[in-house]
Amino acid sequence: MIARSCPCGSGQPFATCCEPYLTGAANAPTAEALMRSRYTAFHERKPDYILATDRTGSSTPAARADLRSEITRMEWLNLIVFDTKQGGPQDTLGEVTFVAAFRPHMPDLGPAMKLAGMEMPISQIHERSRFEREDGRWVYVSGEHLAPYKSAANAPCWCGQGKKTKHCHG
Ligand SMILES: [Zn+2]
Ligand SMILES: [Zn+2]
Repeated sequence: MIARSCPCGSGQPFATCCEPYLTGAANAPTAEALMRSRYTAFHERKPDYILATDRTGSSTPAARADLRSEITRMEWLNLIVFDTKQGGPQDTLGEVTFVAAFRPHMPDLGPAMKLAGMEMPISQIHERSRFEREDGRWVYVSGEHLAPYKSAANAPCWCGQGKKTKHCHG
């Protein structure tokens, strides 16, 4: 059996990458590791982890309910981390810039769309996220949305579907 690779795109097996953070067996040691594990939690539909690692957002019952419902309606396709500032094991602040690709998850509609030759549109979140380390645990503090990201024409497209950008979201 081939070990399942981690959804965060690290190239590592899930079991030794984000899974220990999602199960609570370990704390993410860096801001980037926390960011990646939060992406993986969206991918795996684990809202409790997302809420537990978000200091300011989702603080009201309504916001929590929204996240729980929203997370079931999205399919996450790809993560690219561009840049990390601080966020190391000895830091208290960290910044991670990334693009994450997703599309609506509509199991009722998907097969019919496929038959009609249509595909769910892929969107992206291009964000600079801020993190803080509190009592040894990294938490998400806030995010700044950036202008839509475009990969280079001949580079693999940011959406992660395997085509060159110029033949995809170019
Ligand atoms: Zn991972
Ligand atoms: Zn694309």
